Amino acid sequence: MTQVNHAASTLPPSLWAATATPAHDTPPLDGDGRADVAVVGAGFTGLSAALHLVEGGADAVVLEAAEPGWGASGRNGGQVIPGLKEDPREIVARFGPEKGEAMVRASGGAADLVFELIARHGIDCDGLQTGWIQAAHTKAMLVDLQKRHQDWAGRAADVAWLEQDALAQRMGDGRYHGGWIDKRGGGVQPLSYARGLARAAQKQGARVHGSSPVQSLHRDGTGWRLATPRGSLTADKVIIATNGYTDGLWPGLARTVVPVYSVQVATAPLGENMRGSILSGGEVLSDTRRVLWYFRQDAHGRLIMGGGGSTYESGAVKIYEGLRQRVRQLLPEATEVDFEFAWNGRVALTIDHYPHLHELAPGLWAGLGYNGRGVAMATMMGKVLADRALDTAQPVFEFPASPVRPLPLHALRGVAVTATRAYYRFRDALES
Ligand SMILES: Cc1cc2nc3c(=O)[nH]c(=O)nc-3n(C[C@H](O)[C@H](O)[C@H](O)COP(=O)(O)OP(=O)(O)OC[C@H]3O[C@@H](n4cnc5c(N)ncnc54)[C@H](O)[C@@H]3O)c2cc1C
Repeated sequence: MTQVNHAASTLPPSLWAATATPAHDTPPLDGDGRADVAVVGAGFTGLSAALHLVEGGADAVVLEAAEPGWGASGRNGGQVIPGLKEDPREIVARFGPEKGEAMVRASGGAADLVFELIARHGIDCDGLQTGWIQAAHTKAMLVDLQKRHQDWAGRAADVAWLEQDALAQRMGDGRYHGGWIDKRGGGVQPLSYARGLARAAQKQGARVHGSSPVQSLHRDGTGWRLATPRGSLTADKVIIATNGYTDGLWPGLARTVVPVYSVQVATAPLGENMRGSILSGGEVLSDTRRVLWYFRQDAHGRLIMGGGGSTYESGAVKIYEGLRQRVRQLLPEATEVDFEFAWNGRVALTIDHYPHLHELAPGLWAGLGYNGRGVAMATMMGKVLADRALDTAQPVFEFPASPVRPLPLHALRGVAVTATRAYYRFRDALES
């Protein structure tokens, strides 16, 4: 079980920063070095890539601007959700039977990969494969969820339908009309998971450098040269794993995604009665609102609520009170609810709602754009990217590489996101 610790860290304050297992040493890159593969960014994507690279026999070096888990990976809701936003049948319709089914298998299996890594490397991160519930906030949404449930059930996934009563038993009330549970999903303490991945990679020989922002990336003979403030690295191959924190390192890459600040609040540990009434089996839940509610308990009985989003951090901070109101609505019996934490971090949205793998140049790849669902999928993407760099004969999955397409009118994304969210909230309010 995790304890509160206050070790010195560059992380912004959050529930996870306060309760994570301690960070291991990740000194800055100092001087000139060499690697088979350089990985830029130490979130789930980069750390999973590094771990799978060293397991595959490559010499991997991770360069992280701050510290492992500093980005979204150390700040998310810790909901391990299998699959993508689109349903299996939609994925197959889009990518064709062969590639589509492979993508369904890889994304559906992404949560299993998380729990398998946790078990195999003994990662202490409160990992529980107790299921992800998707709950219908209107009767109309039940139809969509039924189709989704049947789609996965038809592919032998470990899923079950939850009638309103059955869901009410897990929720403590009957506010949702029903839903389904995907038992492949579950929860983790995400910062502990990120630190555990970093440690597992280090143990197998990866070098992980914190405080090492990559400031430039250039061709150097047949390989690449990466420069940080105190050193440089020459590598045959490079993986960029910077997601919502993507900067100008590679021209145009940042403009392929829309970075949005996503928000979380957490209560103080709930009393025994309340703890036992809402998702006490360790399940994590998202609902079907356009601006969705997603919540769970942590290992100490705190209720964690997420949702909303803003293109600016100042806008994200304004959402905290709205999330606290949601928690009060979920716990109407409580005369007073104490809140301990509120925090935010950047996710990366894509226009087609799919994660993107780009082959930017020979020997240079990027994986990003998890649309707020990256705990499982970024871990899987890391493995996919490692397979590419290793040139594995039988990769876990041939994720189709897409061209870098900077979004038109990217500079206006703030206005677009704000307007869309406001409209979605209005529609949600009407329907509820
Ligand atoms: C508040 C919040 C709640 C969320 N909830 C969930 C959830 O419950 N379930 C779920 O599945 N997903 C959730 N997500 C999304 C999920 O956290 C992300 O999709 C996932 O963590 C992305 O991982 P990543 O490794 O690709 O990127 P990140 O974890 O963001 O890591 C990118 C790293 O790159 C580094 N970097 C950037 N530029 C450079 C550079 N030039 N040089 C070196 N390093 C650099 C950054 O410092 C950062 O550490 C949530 C996200 C947020 C913010």
